Amino acid sequence: MTIQSFFPPQRTLMGPGPSDVSPRVLSALARPTIGHLDPNFVAMMDEVKELLQYALQTKNKFTMAVSAPGSAGMEACFVNLITPEDTVVVCVNGVFGMRMIENVNRIGAKLVVVEGEWGRAVDPQALEASLKENPQANFVAFVHAETSTGALSDAKALCAIAKEHDCLTIVDAVTSLGGVELRVDEWQIDAVYSGSQKCLSCVPGLSPVSFSDKAAEVIQNRGIAVQSWFLDQSLVMGYWSGEGKRSYHHTAPVNSLYALHESLVMLQNEGLENSWARHKTMHDKLSTGLAKLGLEFIVPADERLPQLNAVYIPQGIDDAKVREFLLNEFNLEIGAGLGAFAGKAWRIGLMGYAARNENVTLCLAALEEALK
Ligand code: PLP
Repeated sequence: MTIQSFFPPQRTLMGPGPSDVSPRVLSALARPTIGHLDPNFVAMMDEVKELLQYALQTKNKFTMAVSAPGSAGMEACFVNLITPEDTVVVCVNGVFGMRMIENVNRIGAKLVVVEGEWGRAVDPQALEASLKENPQANFVAFVHAETSTGALSDAKALCAIAKEHDCLTIVDAVTSLGGVELRVDEWQIDAVYSGSQKCLSCVPGLSPVSFSDKAAEVIQNRGIAVQSWFLDQSLVMGYWSGEGKRSYHHTAPVNSLYALHESLVMLQNEGLENSWARHKTMHDKLSTGLAKLGLEFIVPADERLPQLNAVYIPQGIDDAKVREFLLNEFNLEIGAGLGAFAGKAWRIGLMGYAARNENVTLCLAALEEALK
């Protein structure tokens, strides 16, 4: 049998990511591929860097997109900064904090875990107590927007505590970037990573990262080689720095970077604050509607992420059947529960291009029918 071309169905993506990609971004993806050292491409990369600096609210020179998904951005931050000599405090309140632990353990560094409740923000007092107990700690890591539960942590407060204890900060902003307030320089974040497929509404597969001057210095003076050649940022920096001649490190995902450029241009044109406000407005509409359907949020109102709405599945309702119904009858994807909430919750995303009135209306109408 001859295999035919693949044409995916037209879905509305309201899960934990990837989110709906705007037609503008999809058409940017289809522009002609040029060489990744072509002067036109190099000039566009400089713009991607500048646009990322805006999106992250940073002047960090060391700002770029790792050519791989958010997990690679996470790993790039950990393997470049941390050596077996270091002590890392990881605050955990969901699945993605657990992955930070995995990174620290694989490096062989000393690990201190601040265990938080799943479905709640990280407790700043618990971090403070842990840092007092562990004065040798030199890194603090946490997830700003925990996609597994929909909890938003106070990154500003957590970083301020870390700084009082002379720690460098590593922050997961995969789901937060573009959807909620995030100010890398003002909040003293030393290493931050994100993903293209959440509130930037770009295609999956790229991970924006940014390192403060202090973090860049640590990377440059770490003494031992980074165990991952591909993720060694001191090598990649030569390609992204824009200073002097760019040298080949790996073949950049040219068309995906066109898409990222376009999504960042859209964010710049809308304005960051406007984008944060839009996510909040759509979340308010959705949560009012969900309450009318009798669905209860996992996270208390003041710790909720507007872009990821996790609600308990009502008693007697078949999780998989409902999601299948939404997909088959409405071409609508919502997310299943993850980790401790597998089978117990649904995760409804309102990310980037998907944070629109049409989507909220569709989702509420479809859920109402599914729950009849
Ligand atoms: N961190 C968080 C908070 C995430 O939500 C995700 C993905 O959902 C990741 C990290 C990993 O990103 P990716 O799936 O792009 O590798």
